Amino acid sequence: MRYEAPSSLDQAVALLAEAQGEARVLAGGTDLLVQMRTDLIEPQLLVDVKGIAELRRITEEDGGFRIGAAVSGAELKEHPRLKAAWPGVVEAANLIGSTQIQGRATMGGNLCNGSPAADSVPALIAAAAKASIVGPRGRRDVPVEDIMVGPRKLSLLKGEIIASFLLPAKRARSGDAYLRFIPRTEMDIAVVGCGICLTLDAKGTCSAARVALGAVAARPLLVAPAAAALIGSKLDEPAMHKLDAAARAACQPIDDKRGTKEYRIKVAGVLARRAAQIALERARVN
Ligand SMILES: Cc1cc2nc3c(=O)[nH]c(=O)nc-3n(C[C@H](O)[C@H](O)[C@H](O)COP(=O)(O)OP(=O)(O)OC[C@H]3O[C@@H](n4cnc5c(N)ncnc54)[C@H](O)[C@@H]3O)c2cc1C
Repeated sequence: MRYEAPSSLDQAVALLAEAQGEARVLAGGTDLLVQMRTDLIEPQLLVDVKGIAELRRITEEDGGFRIGAAVSGAELKEHPRLKAAWPGVVEAANLIGSTQIQGRATMGGNLCNGSPAADSVPALIAAAAKASIVGPRGRRDVPVEDIMVGPRKLSLLKGEIIASFLLPAKRARSGDAYLRFIPRTEMDIAVVGCGICLTLDAKGTCSAARVALGAVAARPLLVAPAAAALIGSKLDEPAMHKLDAAARAACQPIDDKRGTKEYRIKVAGVLARRAAQIALERARVN
């Protein structure tokens, strides 16, 4: 196996594009190395992207934040302005694993590992984040919800790398939140994850919303009917009831040792209500 650690994106893209056998980007390695150790994958080329400056920084851009795809969860948490603007995204990334894992794990890796249960992905989708992808044909910006197309399947082309995520400028009176449910208190995979971002008008009525669910289908879902249940309401009980129903209706889960289909569907509605309540409280003070 060949290991390369380029210092520029162009070099990384060229290495991946020219590779003959299986080639993988190496970010934190918290998924990749586990999969290699268990012989799930056997790449012939590893391209370590942690030495590429663009992937390792957080910058403010157009009132929002550009987060390098190889920034770790621990680094996100140490950025007070990002944390204040997008607490749901930062909290979601910091649910990943333990303190040790958070020192390594990245949002690029969380998305590109292709797990429907990845914690940071519904939060990024709810935030309307865009992934900036660099490849042999140049750069393109893609909404995060369009990257993962199925378990372990991405819409990235050969040679493409996610360089960064752009979180838009947070609108006034907006709040975001991410909640997940796991069978134990820590270090487990989500049975359901729910990210919500909403905006209130001057009278406290919800004027915009995005609701995303993880672990309830083959890919993370952006659930437009769940957002529609909130828009135009003050998140009163009838609106919460509609949100709960829309979230449950969107689920197409599997049965596994963490929960049955019926259980996941029920939890999706409950988590959506709870995440909406937290996002509402944050929007009221923003
Ligand atoms: C003990 C433990 C606990 C965990 N707990 C959780 C949890 O609670 N929630 C959760 O969601 N996950 C969890 N995980 C999984 C893992 O930590 C996360 O998915 C993490 O975010 C992966 O990031 P990474 O940087 O380590 O990715 P890597 O392992 O480096 O890469 C993962 C995959 O993405 C590809 N990739 C990485 N970066 C890019 C990029 N920029 N462009 C294109 N492709 C890329 C790699 O080639 C690889 O296929 C856990 C893992 C462990 C070992």
